Amino acid sequence: MRTVYLDNNATTRVDPEVVQAMLPFFRDQFGNPSSTHGFGASVGAAVSKGRRQLQALIGAEFDDEITFTSGGTESDNAAILSALEEMPNRTEIVTSAVEHPAVLTLCAHLEKTRGVKVHRIPVDRHGRLDLDAYRATLTPQVAIVSIMWANNETGTIFPVAQLAEMAKEVGALFHTDAVQAVGKLPMDLKSTAIDMLSLSGHKLHGPKGIGALYVKRGVRFCSLIKGGHQEYDRRAGTENTPSIVGLGMAAELASKFMDDETTRVKSLRDRLENGVLQRIPNTFVTGDTLERLPNTANIAFEYIQGDAIPILLSRVGIACSAGSACSSGCLEPSHVLRAMNMPHGVVRFSFARDNGEEDVDRVLEVMPAIVERLRGVRNSGPDRRSAEDLQCGLGLSGSRTGSRS
Ligand code: PLP
Repeated sequence: MRTVYLDNNATTRVDPEVVQAMLPFFRDQFGNPSSTHGFGASVGAAVSKGRRQLQALIGAEFDDEITFTSGGTESDNAAILSALEEMPNRTEIVTSAVEHPAVLTLCAHLEKTRGVKVHRIPVDRHGRLDLDAYRATLTPQVAIVSIMWANNETGTIFPVAQLAEMAKEVGALFHTDAVQAVGKLPMDLKSTAIDMLSLSGHKLHGPKGIGALYVKRGVRFCSLIKGGHQEYDRRAGTENTPSIVGLGMAAELASKFMDDETTRVKSLRDRLENGVLQRIPNTFVTGDTLERLPNTANIAFEYIQGDAIPILLSRVGIACSAGSACSSGCLEPSHVLRAMNMPHGVVRFSFARDNGEEDVDRVLEVMPAIVERLRGVRNSGPDRRSAEDLQCGLGLSGSRTGSRS
């Protein structure tokens, strides 16, 4: 069966050039980058190169502003916890209602265990941040604002440069989870007031389990992981050198393919959206259709709930994801869709540079029949069918899909 992968916001295929760059670091280049002998020195140089490649991608002023971590989740945790540690007199956090669980779960934990006050800024039905609500929460009590650059479900882009300027006015630090934005949008951090930024390798054709935290020079930082002096004392533990080299190469390739992302990949996304909207009635695009990642299509299908569409698509070899809050059988929409007051079944198709027109055409070929079938099942039973009934009606019992990353 020919497969089509349209779930690139969950993770991307590792670029073959990235794999090639990593391989020597599993073989001959095995030294510890902290060692002073020759085995270590060349690996240390490779780690420094990886740092400079990332610096170039995000437009950081200095390479020592980049700290390698295990990924987006660790970077988010490290940024927020550091701010609370460094600013003990400030006990409030401002975030949005649609952040990734890497931020929201930590905030809920801090609220419960440390009595930290968390402000979750709401969004409108297009996923746009309520700027008045944001402004109203900014007081000298706020230690850190953590608001994502682009949303992983809808692709909606938040005006982080402007939000960072506003945070500065009350002396709060500004962190952005840019896991979905890095490599898809041009960035020049040195010209912004953003203090910290999280990114993740596996979202930009790099390896999994590696990421980075940008910390602007001059921002006081308290490390999350204590131990040795690696990473300028910001993250202890022997460096994951093959993955750092891979992330560096992924960053270099992302710069090279940036134009492709904003033109060809975007036109594939638009072709899919237009095709679905033309062929299937009662469908619409969710999220901010102007300020949006070029690769993300989030399409609502009225009268269909839960993750039934992705399950049926996966049976014909097409990978995409649903906006449900949990695994298969759950009709509950995700926290992002709930924040947008979106009652319908929403499917996310996320593209990358390895997709082509044939992928879009395959989806358009099978989608109308799948939607018709699902709407037929819905109409053939009582109005309020349980997730289980719906699954049984479609012969889907036992299938599983995960929540969105
Ligand atoms: N933040 C966002 C917006 C994400 O989409 C993800 C990935 O799912 C993460 C954070 C977590 O990144 P990682 O998988 O590298 O821990």
